[in-house]
Amino acid sequence: NKRLLVEAERFRAIGQTISRFLHEIRNPLSSLAGLARRLKEKGRVENLDHYLEVIVHEAERLELLLKDISHFVVPTTFKPRSTDLPSLVEEVLGLLGRELAEANIVLKKDYQVDNLTVFLDPDRFKEALIHLVMNAIEAMPEGGQLTVRIWPEDNHATIEVADTGWGIPKALVKKVGEPFFTTKTHGTGLGLSIAKRALELHGARFCIYPNTPAGTRVIVQLPLKEEEHGGA
Ligand code: ADP
Ligand code: MG
Repeated sequence: NKRLLVEAERFRAIGQTISRFLHEIRNPLSSLAGLARRLKEKGRVENLDHYLEVIVHEAERLELLLKDISHFVVPTTFKPRSTDLPSLVEEVLGLLGRELAEANIVLKKDYQVDNLTVFLDPDRFKEALIHLVMNAIEAMPEGGQLTVRIWPEDNHATIEVADTGWGIPKALVKKVGEPFFTTKTHGTGLGLSIAKRALELHGARFCIYPNTPAGTRVIVQLPLKEEEHGGA
């Protein structure tokens, strides 16, 4: 699946770029701090001009880096429009179909409605769902069952993504949404943060529960009425 590869590659690239950014920030920052400390201690220095030149240079490097990072991470668009929710979920599951098959995961779909028009930005919302389903898949390396449910309630649509994987230890539930927090060797720890950010834009609620008898259940509640959207 070419599109899946492109998506996966994109997410991997994002993670790698950010860790590179952090690494890049650390160097000019420690050199700035070191120079400033030395100047403070010595009071008078022989090659003051050289020190100042390096300080300005490092500060400018930092400024540029931070500018690039903000361009990179700040979401540029949020264009919600009327969208059929079951079709959108189908699209996400289609993108990850090969991953599911390769991991011997049985997919169980339980849509209580054939059609449900919601107001969302399809790209951003798909991005969120992809991260949630990817996490579910990664939690079941030995296979298992992925259950995806959609049901409408009074004023919101609920989407549930449940797996039978290794689950999240109680002590970690609070930590798992933090940027860069990962328990995986090849994780970036950014998936849930990106998902949360995208869901927040939609005014959607997002909760993580343990699944029974094992695994994780993620519930997303998306407001059905346009005026209830929190994000702008
Ligand atoms: P990453 O997947 O790169 O580790 P995420 O932000 O997507 O980063 O997830 C952070 C952490 O949350 C994961 O490393 C994992 O420990 C935990 N996690 C998220 N979803 C699940 C899940 N469905 N089952 C078990 N653990 C999960
Ligand atoms: Mg992830």
